[in-house]
Amino acid sequence: MNTQVLSEIISKYRENKLAHAYLIETNNLDATLNDLKNLLKQLNCPEKYATSCTNCNLCNLINLNNLPSLKIIEPDGAFIKKNQIEELKQEFSTIPIYSKYNAYIIKNAEKLNPSSANSMLKFVEEPTPGIIGFFLTNNKDIMIDTIKSRCQIYTLNYPEKDLLTSLNISPETYASYVSLIKEYLPLIYSNQIINHKSIILNKYSERQDIENIFKIILEIYNNYFLKLNGKSYQEDLTNIYNLDENIIKITKEMQIIAKILTNMSYNVSIELILDEFVIEMRGIYE
Ligand SMILES: [Zn+2]
Repeated sequence: MNTQVLSEIISKYRENKLAHAYLIETNNLDATLNDLKNLLKQLNCPEKYATSCTNCNLCNLINLNNLPSLKIIEPDGAFIKKNQIEELKQEFSTIPIYSKYNAYIIKNAEKLNPSSANSMLKFVEEPTPGIIGFFLTNNKDIMIDTIKSRCQIYTLNYPEKDLLTSLNISPETYASYVSLIKEYLPLIYSNQIINHKSIILNKYSERQDIENIFKIILEIYNNYFLKLNGKSYQEDLTNIYNLDENIIKITKEMQIIAKILTNMSYNVSIELILDEFVIEMRGIYE
């Protein structure tokens, strides 16, 4: 559990200062949802839930997404629709039986469309006692202001294990890719006439390895992009190489790397791709 923010919410609850609506910006919606479910168990469990509880009806119903006083709303297609909000309001017009609060969690809250946000607004503006709401989003900047301004805002960041998982590589392989990237990227930015390709090709001949290396390179740029936009980013990735923190250049470079990755998925020769990469990257600085 991401403890800092959640324990703050719990201590506010104990002081009876619980806000009625929270906006949580997070890099991991599912992990946040899971942590919130645990939070609601902590607030309501009759067995004095600490880290887990398998004994009580309430915790079991939360696990099964079946607790009537906990409603989780996700976008229905591209948007969260007005009827989803109306249904929520209808269901929460009664006092909860098992728990102290009726709680709703709105996933991808930036997808509230104008009419559903409007319907939600009255709910948030004139809070009914005993109802607590959580709006979850990856990007609070694109959320409707009228909702945002009525919420207490928190940020919940989770460590990214996704890269190792999505590349399906071991930490050792990752470390070896990273040390190669540290050697390779400076060459791209230097004007030396040097056989940059051999740095990679002497060590890796498999197409998959080279593709993985470029996926990590893209993540480095992507995290600088997030950093420059004031978003949460992974420092371990930005620490791999010191990029010139210029958002226009970084955006162009990300486009080049994405194109390189597309070409790798086709049958284009790796040597050709690596040449093209250096030419295009250096082109940005000319
Ligand atoms: Zn319990």
